[in-house]
This record gives sequence, C-alpha cells and structure tokens, in this order.
Amino acid sequence: PAVPVGSVLRAAVRRWGDRTAFVHHGVELTFTELGRRAHAVAAGLAERGVGRGDVVAVHLPNCLQYPAVYYGVLLAGATFSPTNPLLTPTELARQLADSGARTLVTWEACLPAVRVALADTAVQTVVVTGPAQIADPDAAVELPEGAVSLAELLRADPTDAHRDADLDLATALAHLAYTGGTTGVSKGVSLPHRQVVTNVLQSGCWVSGSLPALDAGGDVTLDQVGSAEEYPVRLGTGRAINLTPWFHAMGVIGYLNGLVLAGTSTVIHDRFDPVAYVADAVAHRVTGIGGAPPVFAALLQVPGIDEVDLSSVRTLSSGAAPLAVPLIERLRALFPQAVIGEGYGLTEVTMQATGNPAARSGLRKAGTVGLPVFDTEVSIRALDTGTEVPVGERGEICIRGPQVMAGYAHRPDATAQAVDAEGWFHSGDVGVLDEDGYLAVVDRTKDMLLHKGYNVFPRELEEILVGVPGVAGAAVVGRPDPMAGELPVAYVVRRADEAGAALTEASVMAAVNDRVTPYKRLRDVVFTDVIPVSAAGKVLKRVLADRERAAAG
Ligand code: ATP
Repeated sequence: PAVPVGSVLRAAVRRWGDRTAFVHHGVELTFTELGRRAHAVAAGLAERGVGRGDVVAVHLPNCLQYPAVYYGVLLAGATFSPTNPLLTPTELARQLADSGARTLVTWEACLPAVRVALADTAVQTVVVTGPAQIADPDAAVELPEGAVSLAELLRADPTDAHRDADLDLATALAHLAYTGGTTGVSKGVSLPHRQVVTNVLQSGCWVSGSLPALDAGGDVTLDQVGSAEEYPVRLGTGRAINLTPWFHAMGVIGYLNGLVLAGTSTVIHDRFDPVAYVADAVAHRVTGIGGAPPVFAALLQVPGIDEVDLSSVRTLSSGAAPLAVPLIERLRALFPQAVIGEGYGLTEVTMQATGNPAARSGLRKAGTVGLPVFDTEVSIRALDTGTEVPVGERGEICIRGPQVMAGYAHRPDATAQAVDAEGWFHSGDVGVLDEDGYLAVVDRTKDMLLHKGYNVFPRELEEILVGVPGVAGAAVVGRPDPMAGELPVAYVVRRADEAGAALTEASVMAAVNDRVTPYKRLRDVVFTDVIPVSAAGKVLKRVLADRERAAAG
C-alpha cells in the first residue's frame, strides 16, 4: 500500500466524520475533531523544527489526547517512539538514549520520573499534557522550565500540509518500537511506514473476514490490496472498550489504527477495573471485547457476570500471550453469540503474523493462533539444525512477509541473528503447523525447561493447571537442581471460591501429574496471591525464575 500511516487517519476522517471516535471519562471526540487536532499537533511540532528523521518519544498512558499526538507525530513526517509510562527513570533514560529522541510528549504525573531520566538524553523539547486537558484541551498543566503545553501545539494551523507526502515509505521510520522486555532487556525495532500500513491492513482483514485476502484463502499479493484509502475495509462500525496500552504493538496496530480505520467508537479505560469494564460494556452495548488473556480471565471472575446482559458482544479478540483452551470454553459459555479470535505476533513483525479470523467461523480452530495473515509465510525450523521440520513437528516459528522489521536499532549483529539472508525472521517461539496450515504456539524457547535432558514446555502444564477447578491462574518455571538440571514447579493462584479454598499442593500436583508423561511431572506447587504480569499482559516468568534461582543459591 503506497500511503504513509497518516493516511489511515485521513481515510477515517473522510469516511466516519462526525461519528464518535473516542470517549474518555465521558468526554467524546469525533473523527473530524481528531483529524483537526492531529494536524494541529503536526503543525505545532513542525513550527518547533520537528520533522523527517526526528524521533518523538510518547510517554503517555492511554488517554483522549494520545491518538492526536500519535497521528500528529506521523503527519509531521517524524517517527513515533512509545515508552511505557510505568518505566523507572533508569529504564526510561536508557530507552530515550537508545532511540535518540529529541522531543518527548508526557503526562503531568510522569514529570518527577521524567525529570530524573532526561539528564543523560538528547531530549530538548518536552511537551506536557494531563488529565485536565481531557475535558478542556486548553486547560493549564504543570510545566517544568522550558516545557510546552500540548495546548500550545493545538493552537497551530490544522490545515493538512501533507508533510508526509513524499516520504520513502520503505525506509522512513513510522515507529521505533521497543519489545516488551518480557524475556530480557527490550530492543528497539525499526518499522518503516510500509510495514505499519501493511500490518494494519493485514490485521484488519483478519478481524473483518470480509476481504479478498480471505476469499483467496490468504493468497493475496500487496498489488491486490491497494491503498488504505481505496481499500474496501468493512470492519463493521462497532463500539469497543480499549485497555490495551497504545505503547505496545497490539495496542497501536490493533486497537488504535485498526479501530480508527474501522470507524469504531472506542471507550478508553486508563486502568483495568474489571467491574467498571463490565458496567461500561453493558452501558455502551459494546460489540467487541479485545485484549490480552489476563483481561478475559479477570472478566470471568467479576461477581454476577453470568447475570449481566452482554448480548451485544459479537467478537472477542485475544493476543499477546496464550489463551488457554479451558478459558476459551468458559468464554464460549458466557458469550454464546460471539466468535472468539486469537492472533499471534511480535513487535519485530510490527504486530501480527497469524490469526484466527474472528468473522469467519468455519476458519477458526481453537487452541491454535490460526493462519498466516495475507502475504505472510510461516515455516517451522528444527531448534538444533535450523532445517524445516515436517507438518506436526515442533520447532522455531520463522516468519516472512512485508511486516517484518527493517532491523533492530543500532544492533546489526542482533538483526543478522534474527533475520536471515532470505528474509525469514526467527521468532524465538516454539510452534507447530497442522496439515491445514494452522499454527499452534507451544512456548517461548527462553521459557523451555531442561529436565534430565528432556525439553519441558511450561505452557503445556499451565493449560492443564488452569482447567483444574479452583485454579484462577498458574505459571510454571524451572527450579535449578544439581541432578536433574531443572525441576518443573508451578506457581498457582487460587480462585476466591470454595473450590479454590479446597486446593492443596498435593491435589494440584495430582491433577496435573496423572495426565503427563513422567519427565514432565510437577515437583512442587507454590500458592501465591498474584502472578507478575507485564503491562502488555504477559506473565513475567523471569521474576519467578529469578526467585527459584535465588532460593537455590
Ligand atoms: P522481549 O522480546 O523483549 O522479551 P516480548 O517478547 O514481550 O519482549 P513482544 O513483541 O511484546 O515482546 O511479544 C511477543 C511475544 O508474545 C511472542 O514472541 C510470543 O511469545 C508472545 N505471543 C504473542 N501472541 C501470542 C499468542 N497468541 N499466543 C502465545 N504467545 C503469544
């Protein structure tokens, strides 16, 4: 698609005009007004010398201002580099120094951490917004010396100056995104405009299930796709609540660009309160619920969830981490009228590589993450030799397609390791393809345990654990052992009900160990109140694994 990312917004403004784009704390913003503000932000940035080749760090929680800032950066021709507002000052400083950002847009409450972080970075301009500017974009905010209020940028001329018109779409970076850091230090991923626009369309096709990509069985080339503006996206103009952070791949592609392109009215929740979520889902008669698996797990726990009217919900979309089959079954019972779609991807492939198309029921297979999105190939390679394995065998998931990153920022060695000469991205995930081409994610190679020379995949044990009555959540990690290498140990969260109270270490172990071959058996169960989860909804195994390693000395 030969358009820059800003054209996703232009298309939405033209198509959806005065429909509500976003609602935050009851304040509504139409697509037309979003377009006006985004173009003003672009002009305001340009007046301050920000344009092509410049990186703008966006250090904001999800808020009504976020979409205008995001598109404003891109319409100015600059690069959007999101940071997690919960980063410590040291982590933020590291990411800002790595990205080379000279402009930072931030939130009032983040200022104390930002002040500490900025000392060792190249940031020269700080733009501040805050909660008061949700209802009144002109409201005053706290401004450190030399900082600019977002209100000032919004006063610039909102005419579309087409500053992004002749960007080289194959090389100009739209996003400089950082991986989640679930398994280690996060890395900067360079994503040109072409990658981002393509993945927005690939993902949109899979959600809508109404496009040529699906009719051709996924066998569509980019030439058939056309531009974002002419592309006949029929995503259905629904209502959604969004929690997924926009600083994360799934958030910015699926729940910002995807929903804007689709004309969806999105209710912004800036923190996860499952009870408030359900109340809003009922009040707004939402048509889609999306997010990472912990969101679904928490919704199922809301008291009285069986009695509320959620009949408006037509699709449930999950991604970012595995959705266990027992959880899918409970969701099916609660939302009999809805289809459940699941996608798989990584920051390095912009966002999405495969998906179970939500709108085509005949094409979904529970327990898998579906088929490759259009123009994308998946190959499973042996973990030791790197050669392609036969259907049904496990190996590393490798992905090739137009959404694969240009590379890791300033890390040619890491890039060469991750993307081979033929353009295959080596994901570090273990998976298996079935005879119909559906991918199942087994686990991450980094989470795999080695027990007496055997590979144990924690996810297989976690799937069984979450199906045990009374278990609300579980994570399996390795306990170092001088004889066996690693012993599989389960951290288990009890449900707040009778079945949860009745669980014992022995009963949990028996429920799992009766069902698996001896080398996979759990050797211990540790009850815990919470399992640490990242902002993007991924279990932070390294926190638990570090605990085990520390205990083992
Ligand atoms: P880092 O690479 O820094 O450790 P991260 O892996 O959290 O961070 P992301 O790009 O946010 O970085 O996440 C990608 C990972 O998320 C994938 O490699 C995969 O392990 C996991 N993942 C995404 N979707 C799914 C899914 N549907 N099922 C299982 N795992 C998934």
